Amino acid sequence: MKRILTGIKPTGEIHIGNYFGMIKEVVELQKNYQVFLMIADLHAQTVPYKPQELKFLTYELASSLLALGIDPKKTVLFRQSDIPAHLYLYWILSCLSYFGELQLMHEFKEQAERYKKQGVGVGIFMYPVLQAADVLIYNADLVPVGQDQVQHLELTRELARRFNKRFKKFFKVPEIYIHEETAKIMSLDDPSKKMSKSLPEGCLEIFAPENAIKEKIKKAVTDSGQEIKYDPQKKPGISNLMIIYKYLTNKTLAEIEEEFSGLGYNDFKGKIIEAFFDYFKVARVAKRKIKKEEVEKILRIGAQKANQVAKENLIKILKIVGLK
Ligand code: AMP
Repeated sequence: MKRILTGIKPTGEIHIGNYFGMIKEVVELQKNYQVFLMIADLHAQTVPYKPQELKFLTYELASSLLALGIDPKKTVLFRQSDIPAHLYLYWILSCLSYFGELQLMHEFKEQAERYKKQGVGVGIFMYPVLQAADVLIYNADLVPVGQDQVQHLELTRELARRFNKRFKKFFKVPEIYIHEETAKIMSLDDPSKKMSKSLPEGCLEIFAPENAIKEKIKKAVTDSGQEIKYDPQKKPGISNLMIIYKYLTNKTLAEIEEEFSGLGYNDFKGKIIEAFFDYFKVARVAKRKIKKEEVEKILRIGAQKANQVAKENLIKILKIVGLK
């Protein structure tokens, strides 16, 4: 069975970008692949955070993933920090990485700009190398991600090839798996930016209270004019809302234009609210029923399974690089 590794950071509440960009795919893929799904708590440390909050968000995220259809009998759900082999391989790969190539990463450039006053952490700079280690320590065949992660995954592929060439062929060069149309959902308050947990004002969080969701959709940025028409250049706000509605309802963009012809932005937003609650009704009910002890147990078992595979690979890697 082919193996998948993917991850999500516990830096905020899960939003529809995470869901349509990655989680929905993993829920499908877990039927036919061996999936390792990691809660990337080490990655969450690359930006300022509060320890208690990180712990809370880790459990929150795990229970959200379970409520959204991640099945712990099929998927190994685990916390990144429970698997020390990630950090060991991270160091080995760091020594194969070039300063210049890490400087080119879009996410680094964005974050460097954001934190330039406080000082830009080295963790932000090195983060793509840890991400490469996360994938390669499981020798994964496939990595499902949103469009925002492609550049990092290209680096992962390059580091796998570089390691194989420098030492001995060991790593598979993993395929990047992107669901093209849902690959990037933009922020509700600024459609020029991606919806991101680090900018919560623009996120549509799946498990937020009902009123908060209604408010967010009502306040979502629209464009001049009144027409509901898909035109990402001239109407980025409405086009993003159309993409969201498309995935909530399974309708095509042409059907959506037809449905709202002659109607205004408020009618459209009202329908998005309805569609949102229809789509996530089951998950929102399921989430309330999941207990913390249950989540703890799933993460504990996940860590045992992940550790077994990661340790086995690490021993082989240490021999190849001359450390054993
Ligand atoms: P993160 O929230 O950065 O931990 O991302 C977790 C997963 O969600 C990754 O696979 C991302 O590519 C995906 N993702 C995050 N934000 C978006 C977005 N706005 N649109 C599509 N996919 C996203």
